[in-house]
Amino acid sequence: MAEQRKLTCISCPIGCQLTVDLDDDGNILNIEGNSCPRGPIYAKNEVTNPKRVVTSTVRVNNSLVHPVVSVRTVDAVPKDKIYEVMDLIRQLHVDLPVKIGDVLIANIADTGTDLIATRSYE
Ligand code: SF4
Repeated sequence: MAEQRKLTCISCPIGCQLTVDLDDDGNILNIEGNSCPRGPIYAKNEVTNPKRVVTSTVRVNNSLVHPVVSVRTVDAVPKDKIYEVMDLIRQLHVDLPVKIGDVLIANIADTGTDLIATRSYE
């Protein structure tokens, strides 16, 4: 075994502590500590292609009552794209009204997922 990584599974609130053994080439040899089959899936993704859902806020042009709109990506985006996604979110300004689920940026940063509003604003 070349490396052992400790991860916390974030697939549910239990937060199992996972131990992942890797060989010299980064291949997974063994995964322990999971309480259900979702743990190894999470560990595999985290080791090979880590992703996160991005949540943030976007500035509003035309409202003093609601100066920002809360947003998130529909699906998790690769960790190495998060900076680019955040940069696009920072540059974005929207006009109200906005409805929950409105797509504010489609295919954000070529990640294959959209940035949507997470609530409605009049
Ligand atoms: S391994 Fe299963 S039970 Fe444990 S945190 Fe992950 S999803 Fe939850």
